[in-house]
Amino acid sequence: MKLVILGGGESGTGAALLGKKLGYEIFLSDKKNIDEAHKAILVAEAIPFEEGIHTEERILAADLVVKSPGIPDSAPLIQKVRQKGIAVISEIEFAGRHSDAVMICITGSNGKTTTTLLTHHILVQAGKDAGLAGNVGHSLAAQVAEKAHSLYVVELSSFQLDGMYHFKADTAIITNITPDHLDRYDHKFENYVDSKFRILNNMDGAGLFIYGYDCEVVRRRVADRKILSQPVPFTYGKEAGIQPAEQEACAYMEGDTIVVKLDGKIFRIGKDEVSIKGRHNVYNAMAAILACMHAGVSPEAIAEGLRSFPQVEHRLETVALIEGVTYINDSKATNVDSAWYALDSMTTPVVWIAGGTDKGNDYTVLYDLVKQKVKALVCMGVDNRKLIENFSGICPVADTHSLDEALAEARKYAGKGDTVLLSPCCASFDLFQNYEQRGELFKEKVRHLK
Ligand code: ADP
Repeated sequence: MKLVILGGGESGTGAALLGKKLGYEIFLSDKKNIDEAHKAILVAEAIPFEEGIHTEERILAADLVVKSPGIPDSAPLIQKVRQKGIAVISEIEFAGRHSDAVMICITGSNGKTTTTLLTHHILVQAGKDAGLAGNVGHSLAAQVAEKAHSLYVVELSSFQLDGMYHFKADTAIITNITPDHLDRYDHKFENYVDSKFRILNNMDGAGLFIYGYDCEVVRRRVADRKILSQPVPFTYGKEAGIQPAEQEACAYMEGDTIVVKLDGKIFRIGKDEVSIKGRHNVYNAMAAILACMHAGVSPEAIAEGLRSFPQVEHRLETVALIEGVTYINDSKATNVDSAWYALDSMTTPVVWIAGGTDKGNDYTVLYDLVKQKVKALVCMGVDNRKLIENFSGICPVADTHSLDEALAEARKYAGKGDTVLLSPCCASFDLFQNYEQRGELFKEKVRHLK
């Protein structure tokens, strides 16, 4: 079997390790440079690779291609591979073919990483042999090759789901679906929704499908589609039209208590007992609780895991309290919906730092929250015109083009008891390498304010 792997990042290197273990003839090719850590693994394992180039001849000789989720299907090379009749799959599909572990799989537009980490944290605290894999940065294939856990919590992006065909999740979670990445889906939202729902492919009656009922897109699609697994909604309130009392399985709020019903059992916990705050994290907690109940974790262990879960970096991460002002890093909020939840969860007046590469954002949904909570908006980007146009009638707006300038402006507006919130609503690529770098620099500079 000739296996060609396109992309030498975490997933590609992991696929190479699994391919080697299976005795395949492997060739890995990356058009960019491969980072040192992954290159070192390839060298140590004597896996043939090239970087900075794709040698088509070798690639087109493959029996099977594993493609990194970063490479779009529209890339000419991928089209050529397909035209030759060579199957192109994702690393997760490849790993799934060689593992019989229980798979808890999580997708959605926002909340994937938090829900994945929280679910994994609860399972591990409860003594389960759970691996953490997928988009969170640990290759599933590498773990299947090396460690072989009996259960995995896997974060799946739509790009990974696109390359999955026979993979079967045992528990699937869709947190919510809002427009994102439409450039990879012919600018059609429906295509992106279809991609997310691929997580249900191959599931049967034994599977559990946990979904965000308050997200209209998800709710409608669930109503319109035949679902073979057991669908379990989670919802914030009765306003969404759900009658929890009539449901055998669901998660909902009763005042400030999260209530979860599954398999004839009821679990309750006060929302303030959960370590991570905000309405969106109540949703993430509900999804994680359902998955863990289904995996047989005791109520005591679930409650303990929810209490002890540490902050997730770059997601509403409290950085410091300086001169009475709280600084929060939410650099991962790269779309409108995530910034909405960030603003919604604020309990003090906010000086909001936003901006970056706009992904076709519609800011109107934020107007009400900005009116209620935002003292001033500090725009931080190369081109801030769209933000300025949208918000200058609502609150004071500052136009800045670097983090230093943005922080200096934010300090002018923020008084004792206020919060300076970096929740950019946009991608980071105009001023930063990625959202992680943006968040790290923000934290570093905030700490220097002291
Ligand atoms: P993802 O992995 O899907 O990008 P994360 O857990 O990394 O999601 O969170 C990304 C951003 O979205 C964070 O800024 C966070 O504040 C916000 N967020 C987290 N969970 C949710 C949710 N359930 N709904 C909406 N926004 C959320």
